[in-house]
Amino acid sequence: MKCAKASVRQPLTYIFDLDGVIYRGAERQPYVAETLAELRKRGDTVYFYTNNSSLSRQSYATRLQGFEIEASVDEIMTSSYATALYLTETEAIGKTVYQIGQEGVESELSAIGMKVIKDHDEPDAHIDYVVVGIDVLFTYEKLARAQSAILSGATFIATNEDMTYPTESGTVRPGNGAIVASVRAATSIEPVVLGKPHGYALQKILEHTDTPLDRAVMVGDNLATDIAAGNRIGMHTALVLTGLTSRKQAEAAQGEMKPGEIIVTLRELLK
Ligand SMILES: [Mg+2]
Repeated sequence: MKCAKASVRQPLTYIFDLDGVIYRGAERQPYVAETLAELRKRGDTVYFYTNNSSLSRQSYATRLQGFEIEASVDEIMTSSYATALYLTETEAIGKTVYQIGQEGVESELSAIGMKVIKDHDEPDAHIDYVVVGIDVLFTYEKLARAQSAILSGATFIATNEDMTYPTESGTVRPGNGAIVASVRAATSIEPVVLGKPHGYALQKILEHTDTPLDRAVMVGDNLATDIAAGNRIGMHTALVLTGLTSRKQAEAAQGEMKPGEIIVTLRELLK
């Protein structure tokens, strides 16, 4: 008599976007804490990946813990950290960088040993790299400094190019893409862009978690960034309807923006 072998379930790695998926403003999204806890209990890996470069990974971990969601720095990818990884690989450590950005960019670049040039301290410093992340204190002077450095040969890097970001009240604010566009316009130079929809950071997450491509799922609320990034590298994708995108928009999406599945809340991942 032949015995059927019991199939062993291979663990999956779930990569969750943050805004619109895990929380929206100060509100945690429905079923998030219990779904993530259950996935972990099953042996799956939970990872978080935001394009928002404003905070450090440590600050995002603290923020998630504030929503009663278990998260360590090692489970968080941001477009700032992706930029730091990229610079590490391009042997930029020890070189000078001028940043347009906030805590997230500065802390990740300092942590890898780059010398971050400050506006007031070193007006004549040589600049090897210009990194542009979201900066709510962006000014004409910062644009002029970035322009001057790039036109003098500095490498132009953008953490991400989201043109807008959604607020809690349903309106939008200018995203980093709008700042990047001004630097591009002032220099006629194209940046290297690290965040979603580019696949670089997702590849780094797969390497870090030792996950084969066919065991990873990108879960997001944005077709143009989350879903496109997953599709670009051939990963399974799930669009959750708790954020930016309506069912109608999700069903109409084509090409790299077409999600592998559409779910109403994260709880459906448990099925
Ligand atoms: Mg989002």
